[in-house]
Amino acid sequence: MSDVKMWGAEPYYGLGYDFDPQWLFADEQKKIQKKLIELCHSTLRPNAIQSDKSLEYPRKNMEALASAGLLALHVPKSLGGLGQNHLCCAMVLEAIGRYGCPSTALVYSMHLLAVTALLFRAKGNKEIEKVLRRLNKDVFIGTASYSDPETGSHFWYPVASKAEKTANGWRVNKRSSWTTSGGFADFYVVQTTSPDFKGNYADLSVFLIYADEVKAQVSTWDAMGMRGNQSGPITIDSVEIPADRMIGPPGDGAKSNDEAVDPITLVNFGASYNGMALGMIDIARKQALGKTHADVGMRVADYPTIQDYVGEAIMDTQASRFYTYGCAQALDQVTNNCDWSIHEKDPDAMPRAGLLTWTWMTKFIACKNVYNVGDKMLHACGGTGYKRALEIERLFRDSRAGWMMGPTNEVLRQFVGKWALLGLESLDYWNQSVNDRVLNNELKKLDAAGKQKLIDKLSAEIKSAGKAAR
Ligand SMILES: Cc1cc2nc3c(=O)[nH]c(=O)nc-3n(C[C@H](O)[C@H](O)[C@H](O)COP(=O)(O)OP(=O)(O)OC[C@H]3O[C@@H](n4cnc5c(N)ncnc54)[C@H](O)[C@@H]3O)c2cc1C
Repeated sequence: MSDVKMWGAEPYYGLGYDFDPQWLFADEQKKIQKKLIELCHSTLRPNAIQSDKSLEYPRKNMEALASAGLLALHVPKSLGGLGQNHLCCAMVLEAIGRYGCPSTALVYSMHLLAVTALLFRAKGNKEIEKVLRRLNKDVFIGTASYSDPETGSHFWYPVASKAEKTANGWRVNKRSSWTTSGGFADFYVVQTTSPDFKGNYADLSVFLIYADEVKAQVSTWDAMGMRGNQSGPITIDSVEIPADRMIGPPGDGAKSNDEAVDPITLVNFGASYNGMALGMIDIARKQALGKTHADVGMRVADYPTIQDYVGEAIMDTQASRFYTYGCAQALDQVTNNCDWSIHEKDPDAMPRAGLLTWTWMTKFIACKNVYNVGDKMLHACGGTGYKRALEIERLFRDSRAGWMMGPTNEVLRQFVGKWALLGLESLDYWNQSVNDRVLNNELKKLDAAGKQKLIDKLSAEIKSAGKAAR
């Protein structure tokens, strides 16, 4: 394979393979990468401009990805997929974010998330197998709807949801504030409280829902960036589904999140935002080399200030890429290269979950880096960068979504700091453990009347809970 990176018939205008860790990838993966760059040139990038202008959902780009088998990238070959590993998923996401279309990178990340949830519990479920076999053939696009209108960033806490057991299966109710591909996807993976829910929000179940069972408000999506991703609200309104549309057993939600969905998606998110950082460096390189100041005869690229901007942006982004690829490789190591049969042999196997805290950091680092790189690369492009034609402003806007996508960078930063200082159990995702220090400190502030009022309130609560239990 030639080591000149091509962009159509021309050498690529940005950084060449000298700046890419090509040694990480097997030959088969490099072929996927090359084909993907061609698809980005011919299809994904032109459609990115269109999606941004008119909020058009990038279905054509997903069709292009399906034509290369990529909708079933980490699906085993026995189920019609490419059987690729976590590293390859990260490489593909980075390439789509960099050379193609960030909205498509997000749509595709959420598709892989949905496929991951299915793969984790595919064993013995014919309905899941049917979906997995359709992915490329029918351009069957999946997404995940987790975020809840009442708990926002705490998307693992679906208070506006419920599920009940019926004679033939399950009745599912769900309101969701954001769903990438909402109204455009063919299938949705959703989490609700479990059918026998008793108030413990860690007791979640996962369902497979089809497009005709979802009410979406597609006309409401209008955002600063990621304009093609169409992340509008959706409702699943008391929909009855057959028994085999529960993914895994009742109460499998927390396991599905910790073992499958979260580690893989956080690495994929990190990779796509690394791609956007690289995409902006590439454009800045082109602009800095193409613009000359006639008075001094210097190109923008000849100024040491601009060289410093680019040098620092590259080094920070390489650090983020290496962290991301390192996490992907760690996931490959513990799963025998993304071998899903591990979970068929032992449904309790959770090899990825031990790396979850590492993958939190991937998303944080990449989404922080892309902010800094975006600022500096925009500066390097001067006023021209501010205009649409150069395309850096679109990447800049699109790349801003990463920070506030769940888990948000505020939440992640606090998770890691709290974990380091107070221990993992202190994170208390589902609001179950009492912080005695905070409680005692607040109680100290009450006078006698305040304390009595609190005693009366708590006594009334205990009485009514007792009555309800009888
Ligand atoms: C482009 C885009 C696509 C999306 N696609 C999907 C999707 O496909 N599926 C899906 O389920 N969701 C999706 N989301 C939703 C996303 O994952 C987040 O849940 C959502 O962005 C949170 O938004 P919010 O307005 O509810 O934030 P809020 O919860 O109102 O948060 C506001 C601020 O408070 C901070 N904050 C919240 N909790 C804490 C805390 N405990 N400590 C410190 N700070 C805190 C937040 O970080 C943020 O800065 C998408 C979001 C975007 C922007």
